[in-house]
Amino acid sequence: MSTDPAADVALPRSDFALLIDGELCQSATALEVINPATGEVFARCPAAGSAELDKAVAAARRAAASWSAASFEDRAAAIKRMSAVLRANQDSLAELLTREQGKPVGQSRDEIGRAAVQSEGMAAIRIPVEKISEDADRRIELRYRPLGVVGIITPWNAPINLAAGPLTSALYTGNTVVLKPSPYTPLCTLRLGELLKDVFPRGVLNVLAGGDELGQRMTEHPGIDKISFTGSVATGKKVMASAAGTLKRITLELGGNDAAIVLDDVDPKTVAPKLFFAACVNSGQVCMAIKRIYAHERIYDALCEALAEEARKARVGDGLDPQTQYGPIQNRMQYEKVIGILEDTQKAGARILAGGKLPNRPGYFIPPTIVTGVDESSRIVREEQFGPLVPVLKFSDIDDAVRRANDTRYGLAGSVWSHDPERAATIAARLEVGTAWVNQHRATSATVPFGGAKESGMGRQYSILGLKENMEPQVVSVLKQPM
Ligand code: NAD
Repeated sequence: MSTDPAADVALPRSDFALLIDGELCQSATALEVINPATGEVFARCPAAGSAELDKAVAAARRAAASWSAASFEDRAAAIKRMSAVLRANQDSLAELLTREQGKPVGQSRDEIGRAAVQSEGMAAIRIPVEKISEDADRRIELRYRPLGVVGIITPWNAPINLAAGPLTSALYTGNTVVLKPSPYTPLCTLRLGELLKDVFPRGVLNVLAGGDELGQRMTEHPGIDKISFTGSVATGKKVMASAAGTLKRITLELGGNDAAIVLDDVDPKTVAPKLFFAACVNSGQVCMAIKRIYAHERIYDALCEALAEEARKARVGDGLDPQTQYGPIQNRMQYEKVIGILEDTQKAGARILAGGKLPNRPGYFIPPTIVTGVDESSRIVREEQFGPLVPVLKFSDIDDAVRRANDTRYGLAGSVWSHDPERAATIAARLEVGTAWVNQHRATSATVPFGGAKESGMGRQYSILGLKENMEPQVVSVLKQPM
């Protein structure tokens, strides 16, 4: 695979297409895609408007009749073929993902490999008919029926993985799909659509690139039965409001402000690299990244120093360089937002223990930055920074730490770190979050539900809970009395 960053200076690539009704299509308008490591446009792709959306929805509705009637086994076999396609194209997709998203190419490979594994894992989950009751006179069963057409809308931080989860959930349970990636990172998803053109029957999977307005049209479209949305809280609220017009089902996977609580009995040097990675991987652009660290006063100074040491060692650069551990921020808007939070933090008199200086080079680079001396009301603590800025706050009383961790409208995930995992588990259960980890952060799998409490979302992805979000429960009640 070519990992030569210079390949970007050639003419922008434009060999991308929408997938509608089993055909690769162009459109009248285009999106320009920027490589965040250079700040330059490196590719163009077609952008769908209302006409393409209508065609895709009509195709998905036509395809739904036979796809919903196929067996779970047949649909699982198609998902397996999708996973095989992901693995067979892992290197080329990873390179494209790094060019459009920025993350180190090894992590792009991991993202694609993970999408393959998770998809297979979900398609191995059985959804049996549940017998509610049966006696000599009557049998009552609970069955699950597909919803119809699912619109999937994804963000720019992990476009393949965040498409694969909802895609597998929707398709395996018998729905057909219209998938729209973020306008910042449309390319891998379009390429995936192209690779899957003949894996699913015509019309079962449709892939449209487009701007925010295309997402909004999907939420309003009467031919779409459910929206599976991953993105920010602000957009999630718009999706919910707009989906109300047609009473669409919705699953919302939104932002987070995950706290990690570090107890007094840890070894700071052991725990620091794990905390640092969970906060700064993908340069902090992960919904479930650690975004605040609460450290007990007994280990506070040692932990801050060990975190700062990790930040000083971090190799920041173009994700195509195999030495790079931390790539750029994905887009200019987010880059400016993170810089704004950093400047406000500095103005408020915080101490920057490591990082904090922007490199003098093109692209949207911000180095991992460890911050102390901030209070709970500062932007870096209250907001989802979605960048590599890590505030470390001190506590002396565990009840106070739990209260501060919970003092937010977010509720995606959180973690507690201790030499005594059971002591930590008791504290973790008090966090108002969808997932509370002990001595780990960011551990998810196909069979474990993931999603947010409070404003971090609605519903769950993965596991049987995530699958059932794509289905309508149906009671079949049989009176065993011949008529
Ligand atoms: P965003 O909300 O700006 O955009 C997400 C998607 O929504 C894009 O495809 C965009 O085009 C589309 N969109 C924009 N306006 C829309 C509208 N009115 N109606 C319908 N669709 C619309 O989010 P982003 O900046 O791309 O992603 C970052 C956010 O995503 C962060 O907050 C992050 O925490 C969150 N996220 C959550 C999870 C999770 O699983 N909970 C995972 C990854 C990212």
